Amino acid sequence: MIISMERGAPREQIEAVIGRIHELGYESHPIYGAERTVIGVVGRLHRPEKELFEGLAGVETVVYISKPFKLSSLEFHPVPTVVDVDGVKIGGPEIVLIAGPCSVESEEQIVTIAKAVRSAGAKILRGGAYKPRTSPFAFQGLKRDGLEMLRTAKRETGLKIVTEVLSVTDLDLVVEYADMIQLGARNCQNFSLLEAVGKTRKPVLYKRGMATTIHEWLQAADYLLDGGNTQVVLCERGIRTFETATRNTLDINAVPVVKELSHLPILVDPSHGTGHNHLVTAVARAGIAAGADGLAIEVHHQPDKAWSDGHQSLRPGQFEECVAEVRKIAAAMGRAL
Ligand code: PEP
Ligand code: MN
Repeated sequence: MIISMERGAPREQIEAVIGRIHELGYESHPIYGAERTVIGVVGRLHRPEKELFEGLAGVETVVYISKPFKLSSLEFHPVPTVVDVDGVKIGGPEIVLIAGPCSVESEEQIVTIAKAVRSAGAKILRGGAYKPRTSPFAFQGLKRDGLEMLRTAKRETGLKIVTEVLSVTDLDLVVEYADMIQLGARNCQNFSLLEAVGKTRKPVLYKRGMATTIHEWLQAADYLLDGGNTQVVLCERGIRTFETATRNTLDINAVPVVKELSHLPILVDPSHGTGHNHLVTAVARAGIAAGADGLAIEVHHQPDKAWSDGHQSLRPGQFEECVAEVRKIAAAMGRAL
């Protein structure tokens, strides 16, 4: 951060600002010019707040020179992170596919879909046992029974499991069953939940909030990393815009932006990103072409009977075709699938 003093600010004002910088535990690096003095402020871990200095006598402007996010930034950690989901590596040379239904509905349903997505090339099975629904009267998920069914599907297919946690109350239970915890869009800035998940050592599939800027998202990711959980995979799942032809607007820009700013891997979720099954494959291809490390896709063997998000779910055959197309894009990007 740079504090620029007013032209001709007296020595006492400059010293008072420097004193305040030290009082707050930061280092100061003043440059005394003939007309104007500027002071560099350096913090070790946390970036000093601009507001702490803006009101001091003689201060003209305060500007940040470093990024607002720290632990998730490429500046802080210049090597890309590879997240290890019990042997499945996300962020390495391989494109990773996460697939499965929106909700776990029955043992038969989840096992049928798990077998289908595994044979199409998925490495991780998704399925919500705790569902964040807009209405309290909508299906809320099978909870513990759903987690048990995911465990059965894992046993029968060998797929790893990712499932969403909605609250700190259920965290221990979800950690017991899941290989990877999903933090959903609606909890992107639920800081107490982020802190709790940050204290676990489970890999996290961390979705962007529907109205969260990329900088806010990366700052919020710092809550996870600050707790010591380094196993964070970002997931772009679409944001709210004025457009109503699709459920959300998948922000494809987020992929290269995150790659420039952060060391964390990023996936694209073209199911929630579009809301329509016939748009999923095109946007899946785009995600990989933009540089994403993988995809999270909703698949259901009977989408018309699904308890949630059936309209955006691919049938197993459509998922297979989608994977075949994505594979060509992955090859063009020099990545294996
Ligand atoms: C989901 O994955 O089914 C889900 C609820 O996703 P999101 O949090 O992105 O809406
Ligand atoms: Mn869903």
